[in-house]
This record gives sequence, C-alpha cells and structure tokens, in this order.
Amino acid sequence: MKFIDEATITVQSGNGGRGIVSFRRERFVPKGGPDGGDGGRGGNVILSTATQKRTLYHFRYQHHFKAENGHAGQGKQRTGKSGDDLVIEVPPGTLVTDAETGDPVKDFTRPDEQIVIARGGRGGMGNTHFKTSTHQTPRFAQSGEPGETRALRLELKLLADVGIIGLPNAGKSTLISAMSAAKPKIADYPFTTLTPTLGVVYPDVGEEPFLVADIPGLIEGAHTGAGLGIQFLRHIERNRILIHLIDASEVDADHPLATFDTVNRELAQYSPALAAKPQLVVLNKLDIPAAEVGADLFEMAAREAGHSFAPLRISAAAHQNVNTLIIRTVQLLTRYSDDTPSDEA
Ligand code: GDP
Ligand code: MG
Repeated sequence: MKFIDEATITVQSGNGGRGIVSFRRERFVPKGGPDGGDGGRGGNVILSTATQKRTLYHFRYQHHFKAENGHAGQGKQRTGKSGDDLVIEVPPGTLVTDAETGDPVKDFTRPDEQIVIARGGRGGMGNTHFKTSTHQTPRFAQSGEPGETRALRLELKLLADVGIIGLPNAGKSTLISAMSAAKPKIADYPFTTLTPTLGVVYPDVGEEPFLVADIPGLIEGAHTGAGLGIQFLRHIERNRILIHLIDASEVDADHPLATFDTVNRELAQYSPALAAKPQLVVLNKLDIPAAEVGADLFEMAAREAGHSFAPLRISAAAHQNVNTLIIRTVQLLTRYSDDTPSDEA
C-alpha cells in the first residue's frame, strides 16, 4: 500500500565556451596585440523543489537533461555569453542518489530547496592571457572545460493529496477505482476494513497526477486510531483537500444533512487539522432513481443551513460525472498546492 515513484535521469551541464585567438586591428598599428576573449561558462543543472509537482510522472517523458553550453569568446577581449542554467523541478520528498555509486546526493524535504547537481564547465581562456614578454603574438587559446554528466536516481514516497471521507458504503472504494488505475477490493456490505486503499489519478496527458486515499474507519470510535498504521496517518495528514462522499440514495428525508454532519463531527474529533481542509461535497449513486430525490433534499437542506457549496452529483459505479469530479479536484488542488505538506514524521 506504499506507493513509491521512481525515475532515473541523466543530467549534463553545459561545456565551457572556447577562448579565441584574435588580434587588435587598429589603423596605424600594423601589429596589434592579442585581444581574444574567454569563453563563457557552461550552464549548471539545478535540481529544485516545486510544490506544484506531486509525483515523478513527468520524468516518464524526459530522461535526459542538458544545460546550455557557454559561448565562445569574442575579439576585443569580450567574454562569451554564459550558458543558461537548466532547472529541473522535483516534488518535496524526493530522495536523490547517484545512480552509479548509490551514494546519497540529496534528500529534498522542503519547498524551494535548490542544489547545483552538475556544474557547468569553465570557459577557455582567450589568447589575451598568453601574451608574455617573449611571446607577443600567442596564436593559441584554451578550449572550454567540458560539462559533467551524472546519472541520478530519484525516489519519492507518494502521499495522498486527496482524501475521500464518508460513511461506510458511501462508495469510497468504488470512486477510487473509478478515478484511478487502482483496483481496490470492494466489499458489498457495510464493512470498514482497516486497510486503506489508495489510487493514482492521471487527469490528462501531461497533467500532474495525484493520489486519492480512502479514509477508512471514520466511524464511531475510529479517531482513537485503532489499527491505523503510522504510514497511513501520514497519508491522511498530507491530504490537501477532501472529497466528502454521500450516498444520495440513503438521505434521511427528516434529517437530510445527518450523515454529512456526523462525518464532519467525527472528522473534527479525529483531526481538527483535517477538518479544516477544503471539501468537495459529492452526492453518489445518482444512477439509482431514489438518489435524485435524496440529492434534492440534501441540496435544499444545505442551502437552508447556510452552506455555500454546490454538491456535484455522480455515479461512481456507472462512471457518471467522474471526469467532472477529477477536473474539479485538480482545480481545487492547484489552488491549495502552495500549502506545505506536513509529512515530516
Ligand atoms: P465504501 O465503504 O465507501 O468504500 O463503499 P464501496 O465502494 O465499498 O461501495 C459500497 C456499495 O455501494 C457497493 O456495493 C458498491 O457496489 C455500491 N456502490 C458504490 N457506488 C455506487 C453507485 O454509484 N451506484 C450504485 N448503484 N452503487 C454504488
Ligand atoms: Mg471502502
């Protein structure tokens, strides 16, 4: 149930530009001295943490990264332009090791951390530097220092960005499997396993995937933590947003908000930090005719109670509106992506 994302990449810093051989040309000075400029420094490769990255998925499309080479020097002692640095973004939590030696290179834990992982080569010296009293017209210059190439292994323990809360049987496991490639075991009875399920959702090609976790055991007494592993608690704490899933076919006509309020109350007892997270309220099982009525009742009661959210109606089993839910989830995640995840444990 631990998700580990891995990637191996090679990075190459830029070569230094070459120094050049050049001589001053001035009117009335038949033999000007050397004025060949130095080559520019090659670009560095920098690894940097970015909170909007959540996985190492983007490395599936690109494994090789090269910074720009330095430019050659020019006449009149002008130094060549330096190569641009190349910044590679990784999510906080990424562990970097040298792929060849296995040596640890960097354990990124915080947002906005940066290291130079491959230093650009120095530019070569132009012939200006080689003028001596006995050698007035040096006809040679240095080539630039080559850049470094390194193979790096990236490893990231994935933690869930999105938690699904709701009563047993609301359809949480079904929703995870509908949203993601995960195929959790689905129990056909009101039974709460203590094995959490996790799924990875790939919204669209090129978009940042995210992890969804079923938050199980959110029933009376579950906040005492019985059976929930430390690993899983970390998943929950990392959640940036919550999907609050409600079985619309089971809405109580007299108290339409009863289960919604119960779950929120238990959540607050279990973890006030978690209860403060933004929630997407989702009404499930709309493929059942009775759910339509339940959804209307719920919405009316929610308005009367002064809630401003507009619940999304879906059927996890029939895959209705699941894509809309994914899009809304991504929007909300993007809005809350700057929160520093609390996964120091
Ligand atoms: P969980 O306890 O919240 O994880 O709920 P499950 O995903 O295990 O679902 C509980 C039951 O509801 C299972 O029998 C599911 O097949 C069923 N179910 C889940 N989603 C839907 C839905 O959209 N429509 C219908 N008709 N049944 C659903
Ligand atoms: Mg379940």
